[in-house]
Amino acid sequence: MRSTAHHADVIIIGAGIAGLSAAHLLTGAGLGVRVLEAEPRVGGRLVTDEVDGFRLDRLGPLLCTSWPELTGTPGLGAPELREFAPGVLVHSEGRRHLTGDIRSARGALRSARTRSSAPWVHRTPRTPRTLRGYAASGASGAPVSGAAGSAQGVYGHEPGAPGRGGGRGGVVTGAIDRARLGAALHRLALTPEARLLARPERLAAEALAGVGLPGRTVEGILRPLLAALLSDPALTTSSRSADLALRDYARGGLCVPAGGSAALPELLAAALPPGTVRTGVHVTAADITSVRTKEHGELGCRSLLLATGAGAAAELLPGLRVPSFRPVTVLHHTAPVAPPTGRSLVLDGDRSGPVAYTSLMSEVDPSRAPQGRALITSTVLGTPPPDLDRSVRAHLAALYGIATDGWELLAAHHDPEAVPAMEAPHDPRRPVRVLAGLYVCGDHRDTSTVQGALHSGCRAAEAILTDLGVPGAYEGSLPRAA
Ligand SMILES: Cc1cc2nc3c(=O)[nH]c(=O)nc-3n(C[C@H](O)[C@H](O)[C@H](O)COP(=O)(O)OP(=O)(O)OC[C@H]3O[C@@H](n4cnc5c(N)ncnc54)[C@H](O)[C@@H]3O)c2cc1C
Repeated sequence: MRSTAHHADVIIIGAGIAGLSAAHLLTGAGLGVRVLEAEPRVGGRLVTDEVDGFRLDRLGPLLCTSWPELTGTPGLGAPELREFAPGVLVHSEGRRHLTGDIRSARGALRSARTRSSAPWVHRTPRTPRTLRGYAASGASGAPVSGAAGSAQGVYGHEPGAPGRGGGRGGVVTGAIDRARLGAALHRLALTPEARLLARPERLAAEALAGVGLPGRTVEGILRPLLAALLSDPALTTSSRSADLALRDYARGGLCVPAGGSAALPELLAAALPPGTVRTGVHVTAADITSVRTKEHGELGCRSLLLATGAGAAAELLPGLRVPSFRPVTVLHHTAPVAPPTGRSLVLDGDRSGPVAYTSLMSEVDPSRAPQGRALITSTVLGTPPPDLDRSVRAHLAALYGIATDGWELLAAHHDPEAVPAMEAPHDPRRPVRVLAGLYVCGDHRDTSTVQGALHSGCRAAEAILTDLGVPGAYEGSLPRAA
């Protein structure tokens, strides 16, 4: 196996986390690897900017602690993760409701007993037996059936189940309903991936309408939570991908890497042999045995791995399918007085403004803000409004229940192609081997997340090693979906 200035066993185009995780497995198996990255830095979409002592991510902050790839990918080691508080804080009809831990019925009930200790959380009225919110919005006011949390999981998939979606807002659920949600999420957490992928596939929104839980719970908690997890406000994502996302949430909780998401690719890059990654090298053409670059002419290889985003991969390899994309905008504000929401993820159960979710990031991860300064990170899904900062600020004032006039916008980053849409039919394990010697990885081959990107990189490296007949150093110890 050899690697010279103009030749490598494997050339990887793109130093995002997919390409870097593949590089780690391949160098670990003794192959000579070159990672060529067009940008002057590694990380791809995982960028953390330094602004006035704040560390500001350009991407949304929702990673799951349950992803085995976050803690089991060789080269990543054990990254420091900062967790959000269990459950979510839902804003609905002018009130904020802390759900407490909704990952199990027991957790939900325990949270319901203790939540009065949080003075800023309003108590919700006892759960009514009919869907008042839906009657008001013109949807079915059918009584809640006892099928809540049916044995089939969060998406009941019961043929003919009454549709309970379609309403906007409504009263967020009481303790018993949250316990039902907890029981359903707990069952989902225990369901193997293969069983979820065998379920009928449809739009997530349709599946949500047939879920065996009260409409208040669905519209007030599940819908905004899923929209946040999938970066998809209309929930046109495949219901199987939605099941997988909710299952990951139910298995762990939400977290961010300490110090910013760029910490992940930086860890991976630092663990590679020196000289493996070359930044500032733009690949203009590629085939199995060589690539052409703007800066260094032609480089030869035995195998080629395209680890770019979906659009760039299709430019280099015409014929690759380009999915549609979900636009995402991330805004960072600092405030003179921190909102009293602790480490909670704040969702809008009413969908009354552009913000899909927001949090006091300096409380979740204090290393992202200078001592004593508040950092609020908010995410807008879909096309952002023209008067972005003004309308976001107005919405944040309602969500946090405090004036936001004195808040200062630190940064806003819009990416029209932030995440590939996972519309049905969606295969979360798309092939990474195009033919022997030519491979492709990235979030567009898997799930459109940090987890999917890492996992696709591992799958591509395994395929390369198999085709080259080289034993992998990490065989048997790579993270696997259960
Ligand atoms: C705004 C936003 C919000 C997000 N929110 C979340 C979230 O909350 N949770 C979550 O899990 N994920 C989120 N994501 C998605 C996550 O960031 C991606 O899934 C993941 O980073 C993709 O990694 P990747 O390695 O597949 O691709 P990329 O990170 O895109 O890496 C591809 C690399 O290839 C390089 N490249 C492209 N063309 C060439 C070329 N011709 N020559 C050389 N190099 C090239 C690029 O410069 C880039 O560095 C978000 C993304 C964005 C943008």
